Amino acid sequence: MPTEYELRRQVVEICRRLYDRGLIVGTAGNVSVRAGSDRFVTTPTGVPKAHLEPGDLVAVDASGRKLAGSRQPSSEFALHRTIYALRPDVGAIVHAHPAAATAFSVAGVSLAEPVVTEAAQTIGRIATAPYATPGTPAVGGGVAALVVEHDVIVLDHHGAVACGKDLETAFGFMETLEHTARTVLYARMLGQVLPLPAGEADRLLAARLR
Ligand SMILES: [Zn+2]
Repeated sequence: MPTEYELRRQVVEICRRLYDRGLIVGTAGNVSVRAGSDRFVTTPTGVPKAHLEPGDLVAVDASGRKLAGSRQPSSEFALHRTIYALRPDVGAIVHAHPAAATAFSVAGVSLAEPVVTEAAQTIGRIATAPYATPGTPAVGGGVAALVVEHDVIVLDHHGAVACGKDLETAFGFMETLEHTARTVLYARMLGQVLPLPAGEADRLLAARLR
């Protein structure tokens, strides 16, 4: 089990990578990690995520109460704690605003049908939560209905959330989501999105669960 300082360094590194890859801009996005049985470390609200230091992060308990840190926790931590409560297997959560994946929801186009093999095997079927005003409990409400069966959820007209056993996994899921969205976008630009061969989507999704 990494120390809390190591986890904080990982969160800072993940935020820098999210920014470098255009998955967040400005103060957007938030990342959290389990740091104990009733302790989580989260990014602070209102601070550019590209240049965080480990000491900028905030420790909170499962109710969202601040345990340590001079800044305020992420305004979306309510979404994170909804997920942690429903998914004891989840150790880290990444919320970002990936442009292509978000554009699909803005355009009203679903990403649920698996058409890219690697994505089906790693992130499974991509769900989309109904629209909710950012920072309100409704965001967690929409995700709660989906997160038991999905690790990656697009937030309608907003962004996406990815959860995994650790920070690298959650980040990788977010990256895979955006890469998949871009691939489908290119296919649509080329004229059509063809389905996988019959039965193949189900086989790939089942392989992921194993
Ligand atoms: Zn957001």
